Amino acid sequence: MSHTCSAALVRCMDFRLESAIEEYMANNKLTNDTDVISIAGAAKDVNDQSMGGAVAGQLALSKKLHDINTIVLMNHTDCGGYGGRSAFESREAEWQNHVDALNGAAAILKATYPDVTIKKTIADINDDGSIEIKEVA
Ligand SMILES: [Zn+2]
Repeated sequence: MSHTCSAALVRCMDFRLESAIEEYMANNKLTNDTDVISIAGAAKDVNDQSMGGAVAGQLALSKKLHDINTIVLMNHTDCGGYGGRSAFESREAEWQNHVDALNGAAAILKATYPDVTIKKTIADINDDGSIEIKEVA
């Protein structure tokens, strides 16, 4: 018996993201069709092995066991893995840092999985706690 799914989602473990990610997955037809890899800093581990390279190991298993064709990388603002919002001089600087992290991780993953579509997203936590998940070009 084999079972496959379409995607792997690499997200931060941060509990604040839960409802927004559920909604994002539903809106993108990912619910029940996605391996969810939840780790502090999300793309950070791909770039600097801050979590021992765990993401690479999980993605390898996801590809091997479930033959995924898409990887969704999802960083978020005010992420403790990057020192939180206060580590940046501005919201723009924080945003750019996450874009750079996503681009770096995507390049690494594309070299490993040339046939897999890599999507880059940022879950933007607003000051009122609301969250908007945005695609990064
Ligand atoms: Zn985080």
